[in-house]
Amino acid sequence: MQGGPPVTLAVIALGGNAIAPAGTAGTAEEQTGTIARAMDQVARLLQDPDRALVITHGNGPQVGNLLRKNELARDIVPPMPLDWCVAQTQATIGFTIANTLGRALERHGVDRAVVPLVSRVLVDAGDPAFDAPQKPIGAHVTDEAYVRSAEAQGVAFVETSRGWRRVVPSPTPIASLELATVRAMLEDGAVVVANGGGGVPTVRDPDGALRGVEAVIDKDLAGALLAVELGADRLAILTDVAGVALDFGGPDERWLAEVDVAELRGHAARGAFGAGSMGPKVEAACGFVERTGGTAVIARLEDALDAIEGRAGTRVVPSRPVPS
Ligand code: ADP
Ligand code: MG
Repeated sequence: MQGGPPVTLAVIALGGNAIAPAGTAGTAEEQTGTIARAMDQVARLLQDPDRALVITHGNGPQVGNLLRKNELARDIVPPMPLDWCVAQTQATIGFTIANTLGRALERHGVDRAVVPLVSRVLVDAGDPAFDAPQKPIGAHVTDEAYVRSAEAQGVAFVETSRGWRRVVPSPTPIASLELATVRAMLEDGAVVVANGGGGVPTVRDPDGALRGVEAVIDKDLAGALLAVELGADRLAILTDVAGVALDFGGPDERWLAEVDVAELRGHAARGAFGAGSMGPKVEAACGFVERTGGTAVIARLEDALDAIEGRAGTRVVPSRPVPS
């Protein structure tokens, strides 16, 4: 492709709502339909042949449900640990993205392979998150007796407005272990689905062996990590709101069109963003911008194309140097 325009690389992180919206039962059919609708948006990004794309996605609802199913069937089939459940949900969401995005690309006449990768992400076995489970997964449960008996067996819950939700450790992602493969697939022109569900949390033992551990990594942070590692031009975090708001839901609600890292971190420090929702997106966006000097955007899934091209969502840009 000598002399052609430069290929730009975007990493997009798709929210769980894009896959299993609240209020649905979450059957395979429903999830496939929702993923297909999300992929219609993603396919529009790929009509530009000079755009390379990596997709990462959440799995919170799916992994929580799978874990619960394992527990309920424990007398019949041995329950699988959380890292197995992460890998399993990553795989089912991954192949469904491949099927549905492949179909959408066909409709647009775009000939690109979609490759879902089982992805491991390195974490530190000493990460303090392992002693303080914080990430809510699965459905809200209202059966207090179930919650109390599970708590007695060491399962952690957080109380919500709609009952309880299970919480699990969410360590900081350190390195994407499939990075070299992601690069090779991108060079080959493929669209790569990687670090889904935050990636399978993996630690390196003192003898060098890699081993899955029971945790769920935040998908926004795992997506941002991969974007940094790949030197992506854009990180787009796509969700169910138009971007980042100050006084979200309050009388002085104000949506930010563009904000620099220093200002955004200031708002975060004042607690402007939901801890398990907008907080990690803001953190992921700031980290990407600081480490690459690029621009990150947080936007509604339906605005994916406009967001990546700078016309929608909240753009997070490098802080202006302090005048000396
Ligand atoms: P996803 O599944 O895409 O990761 P989350 O539910 O984790 O979505 O995060 C998006 C949600 O963050 C929004 O639906 C909104 O309710 C919530 N949120 C919390 N604080 C803010 C804020 N300051 N601005 C915008 N949205 C916010
Ligand atoms: Mg989220």
